[in-house]
Amino acid sequence: MNKVAPVVVVGGGAGGLELAAKLGRRFGPEKVYLIDKMDEHIWKPSLHEVAAGTLDIHREGLSYFMLARDNGFTFVPGRLHALDREHKTLSLEAVCNAEGEEVLPARTLEYGVLVLAVGSKSNFFNTPGAEEHAIALDSTHQAERFRMRLLYELTRSSRVKSAEGDVGPLEIAIVGGGATGVELAAELMEADASLQAYGTNTLDQARSLHITLIEGADRILAALPSKVSLRATQLLQKRGVTVHAGVRVSEVSKGVLKDTNGAQYPADLCVWAAGIKAPAFLTELGLEVNRINQLVVNDHLQTADPHIYALGDCAQAPWGGEQGQYLPARAQVAHQQANYLVNVLAKKLKGLPTHIEAFEYKDYGSLVSVGHSKGVGSLMGVLQGRSWFVEGLVARTMYMSLHLMHHMAILGVLRTASMALGRLLLKRSAPRVKLH
Ligand SMILES: Cc1cc2nc3c(=O)[nH]c(=O)nc-3n(C[C@H](O)[C@H](O)[C@H](O)COP(=O)(O)OP(=O)(O)OC[C@H]3O[C@@H](n4cnc5c(N)ncnc54)[C@H](O)[C@@H]3O)c2cc1C
Repeated sequence: MNKVAPVVVVGGGAGGLELAAKLGRRFGPEKVYLIDKMDEHIWKPSLHEVAAGTLDIHREGLSYFMLARDNGFTFVPGRLHALDREHKTLSLEAVCNAEGEEVLPARTLEYGVLVLAVGSKSNFFNTPGAEEHAIALDSTHQAERFRMRLLYELTRSSRVKSAEGDVGPLEIAIVGGGATGVELAAELMEADASLQAYGTNTLDQARSLHITLIEGADRILAALPSKVSLRATQLLQKRGVTVHAGVRVSEVSKGVLKDTNGAQYPADLCVWAAGIKAPAFLTELGLEVNRINQLVVNDHLQTADPHIYALGDCAQAPWGGEQGQYLPARAQVAHQQANYLVNVLAKKLKGLPTHIEAFEYKDYGSLVSVGHSKGVGSLMGVLQGRSWFVEGLVARTMYMSLHLMHHMAILGVLRTASMALGRLLLKRSAPRVKLH
């Protein structure tokens, strides 16, 4: 009997991993493959915590090989770079170790159905100097790089600035006042208090960190209701963050940012969180893409090739039937799309007709963390379709529950509960911020 080519999911992030895990548990490793260029999974919305040192990637990361064994799919490490759509094969680059030695050769793999879930990365919008001088939070590697630079700069700037007679704090500029920028600003202010407590920062309290958050739109969190923006601005300002809205950064150089009006902002460290684009290789697959490289999909999440689907940040999916309205790049979208594709692909794997209703996104609202005991956001009223403002510990707890739900989808309830308990106990025995 001929072997049936598997469903191959490329990208084990917020959406792709949930899809592979749910299909794997039902159909097993011969029929479900997951490919990722990394060997461990992290919930991307946690990256600002990794960057601030309040979450330890060495404890948070989950091995794809472990997840594959536990959820019944096959994990294939490698970076996808090309497709042969006619023969339904995909090409993976060779996997090399840190020394550049080849661990696995370049390979090709057959697929029956392909799901592209390769996420997005920061969009620097060709801003001069941004790619060179600003750090983006697209991966654990970048988040760790920022964390180490922060620790190093806190010590260095204390010494250098004092020697130069500069009594100013370490200046951090965050470009982009969306969820990533806002959450990072709040997390850094909390991390700073702990860093001082452990003596990492030898500057005194008043000269410690200063954060400038710069947003091009006329308010931060512009995609959320204005009440949420206002409250987030107040909470950040109360913590000492300077918020500039309606400011467009035109140039980034070492130590300083310039805006379109010529004003300058000090930046010993600069983080870029001003927008996203999908990976460039998607433009070379012969499929339609938009101006930020996202694959154009229909309301069944299908590309023009009926064997290829796309979900999450790398897809431009229609929203609400209106021309020109597309789903936002959010974990909640990727999660719901993964659940939808579980049903579609389960039918395909069973050989049943796949006529199924179009994907419909249910907007339950958006929550933003503004520190460890605070959050703000809006929740959609199920009955009236109106949005409700929420804040404080309630909002923060609901925000955390999204992360827990993701872990439950890939680890199960019992292991998620043990992990959450373990983390709670660890918090009591280890420094609040990772110091090494
Ligand atoms: C700091 C930060 C905070 C955020 N906060 C929130 C929030 O509070 N709420 C919210 O809803 N969203 C938030 N987001 C956005 C959210 O993380 C994304 O919308 C979500 O992760 C998208 O899921 P995805 O599955 O499309 O892609 P991702 O989760 O990005 O996963 C993509 C996967 O594809 C893999 N990959 C990429 N290229 C290749 C390749 N060529 N070959 C093989 N594998 C590849 C990557 O290694 C990765 O594992 C935040 C993002 C950041 C960076």
